Amino acid sequence: MGISEALKYHEDILELKDNFSLEDLANGAINPTYRTVQYWHDEWRIKNLGPRSGIGMIEKLKEKLNIYSEQNVIVKFVEDPFALLIVTPLMQRAHELKSSSGIVFFDSTSACDAENHSITFILTPCAAGAVPLAIIITKGQSFLAYSTGFNLLRECGLKCFGGIAWPKMFVTDNAQAEINAIKNTWPESDHLLCIFHVCQAVWRWLWDSKNNIPQNKRPILMKHFQNILYADTVKLAEYNFNSAINSSEYPKWTKYITDQFDGRQKWCLAWRNESNRGHHTNNYSEITVRIFKDTVLSRVKAYNVIALLDFTCTVLEEHYGRRLMTFANCRNPKNREARIFLDTLIKKANYVKKNQIIHSAQNNYIVPSEKNPLSTYDVNLEAGCCSCSIGKYGKFCKHQCAVYIHYDEMSNNFPPVTPQDRHEIGMLASGDKSLKIDFFQPFYVENYNIAQTVVIPDDERI
Ligand SMILES: [Zn+2]
Repeated sequence: MGISEALKYHEDILELKDNFSLEDLANGAINPTYRTVQYWHDEWRIKNLGPRSGIGMIEKLKEKLNIYSEQNVIVKFVEDPFALLIVTPLMQRAHELKSSSGIVFFDSTSACDAENHSITFILTPCAAGAVPLAIIITKGQSFLAYSTGFNLLRECGLKCFGGIAWPKMFVTDNAQAEINAIKNTWPESDHLLCIFHVCQAVWRWLWDSKNNIPQNKRPILMKHFQNILYADTVKLAEYNFNSAINSSEYPKWTKYITDQFDGRQKWCLAWRNESNRGHHTNNYSEITVRIFKDTVLSRVKAYNVIALLDFTCTVLEEHYGRRLMTFANCRNPKNREARIFLDTLIKKANYVKKNQIIHSAQNNYIVPSEKNPLSTYDVNLEAGCCSCSIGKYGKFCKHQCAVYIHYDEMSNNFPPVTPQDRHEIGMLASGDKSLKIDFFQPFYVENYNIAQTVVIPDDERI
């Protein structure tokens, strides 16, 4: 709230009082002037946030470290090059999620404070969407700045990424300094590119006039690239690449696509597997940046880094706490989406009878194809995958659903509709380990069956 807004708000409150008189508005003791409020605001700001930058701001930050520590917020920083790590209590709990040792999303934004610091969000997916694992503020987006910030997380003393200390893979957009710094800090992890940003970069290249690609050929060349990106198998991806090269009439395009293909393991789906859990983009990070700018900062730049830190520990923490709790209490659109998704798959899996499924080994099943009963798909419940085109990237498919219906065995990537899912998110949101799973059970537990709860009337379908 700015000074003008605060003055107006104060006058509104005065007018609501029973003994209000018009003279009150002209009385400086009751209704202070703009200059007075500005003076108070400046005094408050210097006391709580220090100066905008420089040594004074660093001194204020050091002064407030004890306060953050009392609130159980991990705050670490380096002065040169400046980097600040924030891990709030909710973020610390998010590191205990199993998914945080699997896939992690990174993205940075700037223009959030007067000094244009860079803010990097580190996120992991969960049943209710994605939750932040840490926020790192750096001066600039250089390799050195990122490395300094990431090292703060690596050495902060927390059992990061599910206790393993690094995630299996991280997904980013094509920001080279950030990627190099991540690889330098967590060399054990794999790196994947967000396919949305990869396609966007190819499209920009095609539309760049210095590459001299005729306008009517650009969509055709884009299609060639997408054929490589979405190829099901390595063989098909290589075949599509060779076709694209052989049919190319433009040497620059040939060179560009060859250079891109050199790094194919990072973006081509044929080189991805169930570890991805169906996540091929960095969209969660994009949403988090929007939440930070819209909800936390109300589209206004923060005064300085300490203000960003305070907002992260209060407004952002409350936002995620509330949002996760709405999921735990079944009040979030994600609950409904998961139920509709499962309901749809249950209907799709109806074509299989129990005697058609072969239980080949522990956690392994062979399920016939719907279109061609002679063809079959291998389901592995432990890995949460299937050999079909959807299940092989770790998404829940109708073949895994068929196993659930007939054998009551849940795959590792079962849609988050169970009381256990809501209980886990409830504990993540509140930090209350005494929360009992019974609270999240349906009213009639003895008749409870997930397959029955997902049936939604036709008129309520989206
Ligand atoms: Zn499948």
